Amino acid sequence: MEPYPIEIPRLFHSVEHDGLFQHCFGCERDLLEEQIPYAVAKHIVVAEPVFEMAVCLQCVSSLQSQETQQRISAFLSNLNLQRDIDPLSYTWEDGLRACLICRKARELCRRYQILGVCLLRELLVGAPPAPSPYLICDECNSQLSELLSKETKENWDRFLQLNSDDPPGIELDSPRFDPVFV
Ligand SMILES: [Zn+2]
Ligand SMILES: [Zn+2]
Repeated sequence: MEPYPIEIPRLFHSVEHDGLFQHCFGCERDLLEEQIPYAVAKHIVVAEPVFEMAVCLQCVSSLQSQETQQRISAFLSNLNLQRDIDPLSYTWEDGLRACLICRKARELCRRYQILGVCLLRELLVGAPPAPSPYLICDECNSQLSELLSKETKENWDRFLQLNSDDPPGIELDSPRFDPVFV
């Protein structure tokens, strides 16, 4: 299925700015002017977003090493993510009903990450194997984190520290929560 654009749903708006994300969290480029795709990522705990960012795909590829990218792709290709998907009726909400990896229903996930790829004012909707948007529960996030190379983890740590006032590991009772881009 070819990805198709829809107007960015409210869920992928910035809570902080009460509207669309305007700037890349990393390089500050204007996301609503430049023709470069960007990812909107949120970490949600008990239905409340505790961390949000929009980051252009150029920043993502400079942070996530080739080695990491290859490991994530290999991991996902073993999972048969296309199961139970009807590409003809697929909507953005389908991507958020359950964890991409273990299929645990969203209502049962206490902590999870959602991520959607956008271009200008639109969300690009696509089914696996190139999903957007998607949800990853915290158990699967920690599993995926182990695939991140040391270099990628250090890049992300530096990136998040440089650019945010609050580190993403906001919840004290929880382990670190790495952003993972599939
Ligand atoms: Zn950027
Ligand atoms: Zn999961």
